[in-house]
Amino acid sequence: MMKLTGSCHCGAITFAVDGEPVRMAQCHCNACRRITGTGHNVQAFFKRDDVNISGNTRTHQSTSDSGNIRTRHFCPECGSRLFSENSATPGGIGIAAGSFDDSSWFQPQAILYISERPKWDTMDENIRSFEKMPPA
Ligand SMILES: [Zn+2]
Ligand SMILES: [Zn+2]
Repeated sequence: MMKLTGSCHCGAITFAVDGEPVRMAQCHCNACRRITGTGHNVQAFFKRDDVNISGNTRTHQSTSDSGNIRTRHFCPECGSRLFSENSATPGGIGIAAGSFDDSSWFQPQAILYISERPKWDTMDENIRSFEKMPPA
């Protein structure tokens, strides 16, 4: 069982995870590119019940290609992106891999939306990749 901790850049939001990641992925879709301001978004997904969040995030909602509502949480003080929730998977939460104090355990299992990947954002060719979302 892993015990993981993390925070936003200013420390107003902290979190602790008591459990294993359900999956880990890297996404190059246009939404992730704009949200991160870089070539891709990297997240580890956990059971919501395994994650304890301290502090109040602000959220923004948008509808994904598949029609699901994505709720993205960020720190209202420093703007760091932290969590995302998807209406298709109500019991789960995605956490930005870079927000963990120690992310050395992180290993993406899949790379999504390589059809929208900027050419300058190189990727690991050894990781399974998908043109868009992998079939459910
Ligand atoms: Zn902050
Ligand atoms: Zn994406």
